[in-house]
Amino acid sequence: MNTETFRVDPVNPDPAIIAQAAELLREGRLVAFPTETVYGLGANALDPVAVRSIFTAKGRPSSNPVIVHVAESSQVGNVAAEWPETAAQLAARFWPGPLTIVVPKKAGVPDEVTAGGPTVAVRCPNHPVAHALILAAGVPIAAPSANRSTELSPTRAEHVLKGLNGRIDLVLDGGPCTGGIESTVVDATGPVVRLLRPGLITAHMLEEVVGRVETGANHEAVVRSPGQMAKHYSPKTPVVLAADADAEHKRLRDAGFRVISVGTDLIWEYRSISDNPQEYAADLYALLHDLDNGNYDRIVIEMPPNTSEWAAVRDRLTRAATDVIMNDSRPDA
Ligand code: AMP
Ligand code: MG
Repeated sequence: MNTETFRVDPVNPDPAIIAQAAELLREGRLVAFPTETVYGLGANALDPVAVRSIFTAKGRPSSNPVIVHVAESSQVGNVAAEWPETAAQLAARFWPGPLTIVVPKKAGVPDEVTAGGPTVAVRCPNHPVAHALILAAGVPIAAPSANRSTELSPTRAEHVLKGLNGRIDLVLDGGPCTGGIESTVVDATGPVVRLLRPGLITAHMLEEVVGRVETGANHEAVVRSPGQMAKHYSPKTPVVLAADADAEHKRLRDAGFRVISVGTDLIWEYRSISDNPQEYAADLYALLHDLDNGNYDRIVIEMPPNTSEWAAVRDRLTRAATDVIMNDSRPDA
């Protein structure tokens, strides 16, 4: 298969290009597109064959359900059988935006989307290209991240091509994604909202809207939301997450490894990254994609502070890491 790339203006996408991409989606084809979190790999969510081809292109296990994207809250009724009060409150506050809400699914939603389960995960993205594309397609769009399964998520069109060139029909290149990590996922099917995957919308922000939120994965939640499984979001180069990145860097270097560190103010060869959690998230995957192309044996990443505003970044780093070294004399932030 030949993968085409169309450049689109991220603020005012050309309607003619959007119409072509939407037509491909209606024909059952795969189109990667930018959202405010990461690039998604879209297919018509109501077409089981099209959705199955997402899993083939990504090498994704069919047990991992995909998020359905809508252009407006009013389209939720096309995929959800119920829209609980908590879901309505969260959508009113955070949509369009990086929040995915799990609710009971409507009968017409194919098993391919929900991994055979009774619920569907719905999100309304806040990106002009995503919005225009979903609207023009006229159908809900199933879209996991546009990368090979377990690998790093893409925040640039070139990252999408690195993993999926020749496996999908089209990439809409709308430049870098501003959010940088995947959406927050919550389960709104029970009496208390449960956080399934942390993201830029923090537990604290959710609690301001719906009161107490359950966090910490229970076993059932992990099975139902495999983004929570340990191995995910990983570069090919082994990542060591260390409280004392310089000490770990030196130890590995002395052992003969070619090492690069990522942190804010280190001594040994390192790439600096923001000490602001939103900026850090926006840059993280692009930096890791880049370092993965370098000739390193190990990437050492300095563990960010253990505070709620860093929870999403720490979650992704922990899953990217093959080793987590916490021996550190510094106090926790
Ligand atoms: P991604 O592949 O990066 O788009 O991630 C999608 C995330 O949403 C994964 O962690 C999925 O397991 C999760 N997800 C999708 N549908 C559901 C669902 N019905 N219930 C719980 N989690 C879901
Ligand atoms: Mg993914």
